[in-house]
Amino acid sequence: MTKDEAIKKANEDLIGVYNRFPVVFSSGEGMYLFDNEGKRYLDFASGIGVNAFGYGDKEIAGEISSQLEKLVHVSNLYYTEPLIKAAAAVKEISGLDRVFFTNSGAEAVEGALKTAKRYYFNRTGKNDARIIAMNSSFHGRTMGSLSVTGTDSYRSPFYPLVDGVSFADFNDLSSVEKLIDKRTCAIIMETLQGEGGIHPATEAFLKGVRRLCDENDILLILDEIQCGMCRTGEFYTFQKYGVMPDILTTAKAIGLGLPAGAFLVTERVAENSLKPGDHGSTYGGNPLSTFAISLSIRLMKERKVREHVKELTPYFEEVLEEITKGSSIVKEHRGDGFIQGLLIDPSVKAGDIVSKALQEGLVLLTAEGNVVRMLPPLIAEKEDFDRMKEILSKLL
Ligand SMILES: *Cc1c(COP(=O)(O)O)cnc(C)c1O
Repeated sequence: MTKDEAIKKANEDLIGVYNRFPVVFSSGEGMYLFDNEGKRYLDFASGIGVNAFGYGDKEIAGEISSQLEKLVHVSNLYYTEPLIKAAAAVKEISGLDRVFFTNSGAEAVEGALKTAKRYYFNRTGKNDARIIAMNSSFHGRTMGSLSVTGTDSYRSPFYPLVDGVSFADFNDLSSVEKLIDKRTCAIIMETLQGEGGIHPATEAFLKGVRRLCDENDILLILDEIQCGMCRTGEFYTFQKYGVMPDILTTAKAIGLGLPAGAFLVTERVAENSLKPGDHGSTYGGNPLSTFAISLSIRLMKERKVREHVKELTPYFEEVLEEITKGSSIVKEHRGDGFIQGLLIDPSVKAGDIVSKALQEGLVLLTAEGNVVRMLPPLIAEKEDFDRMKEILSKLL
C-alpha cells in the first residue's frame, strides 16, 4: 500500500474521531520512527507518553516474546506469576499497598472513582457522594472519567454525565475548599496536568489539598497516568512533594506499549471499600501485560532512568529557554523533567507548528491552551534535544 492508498482506506473504514496526521509509521529505532516510505522522524511524543524506552529495543522484544510464547491470558478467576510479581513491583515503586490492574488509563480512573464512592458508602451508608475535580484536567474518555475531565468541548456533547462532580481551579486551594461539604468523597487531580496544558501542581496546592482531605475524611486520588513512571525523574511525581495519595492511577508508560494500567490504594482504603464482586475486568492483569509491567519497572531501575531524566532535565530546559528567547511567538516554556510545553502566541496555532514539525521530521504533540507539548522517550540524550531545537527553531 502506498501512503495515499493507506490513508484513503483508513478514512473510509475507521470512525472519524481522530484528526490523524498524514503519516503511516511502520517501524522505529531508539529515538526515531520510520514511515512506510522510509522517512525518519525524531520522536518527542513517545506515543503520548508511553514509549519510555523508545523503539526497537532488542532486550524488551526478546523478553516479551518469551512471555507471549508461554501464556497470554487466563482471566482473573486464577492466579498467575506475572500478575503477582507485577503487583509487588508497583507497590514497591509507589509506596501504596494494594493494586488492581486495568487495560488503560481511563479504566484505572473508573476503578479509582468506584473505590472512592464505595469507601463513602461504607462510611455513611448514603448514596449521595460527590467528587471534586479540576478545571483543565484530563482523566479519559469513558463516561466516568469524562465526568471528572475539566475540558468542556470533550464533555458537552455527552451530557448527562455521572452526577455529583464539581470543578475547582487547579493550583487555587480556596476554590477547592469552597466546594467541600460532608458529601465530598474524593478530590481527583493530576499531579501535573498534561493534556490540559502542562501545569505542575504547586507544592502549597498539593499539600493544601492533602490537608483538606485529611481534615474531612476525603480520599485524594492522584492521576499520574501521564506524569508518572519516571517522566519527572521519580517513579511518581507526588514523591517529589512528600505527599501521599489515598488512591493512585497509573498507565501509559507502565506497560512498554502493551495496553496496561492500574489503580492502587492504601491499606486503609482497601479495607473499607471494594469487596468481592464489586469490580472486575476480563483482560486487566493478564500475564502478558503484567509481565510487561514488571519488565518496565525492572529496566527503569537497571538502566537508571530516574537518574538519567534528572541529569538531562536542566539541558532540556536550557534548550527550551533558547527556543523561547529566540522566537517572538513562544511566550514561555514550562514543565517538569521530560514533560514540557511551549506556550504559543495566539496569533499562531500550536497545531500548525506540530504539523509543520512533522513534515520536517520531528514528532510533537499539542496540549490545551495553544501549547506545544513534548514527551520524548526517557532515553533522550543531549544530541536529541539539540536536533529538536534545530528543527523547531527553523520553523519558528
Ligand atoms: C492519557 C490519560 C488518561 C487516559 O488514559 P487512556 O489510556 O487513554 O484511557 C487519563 N489521565 C491522564 C492524566 C492521561 O494523561
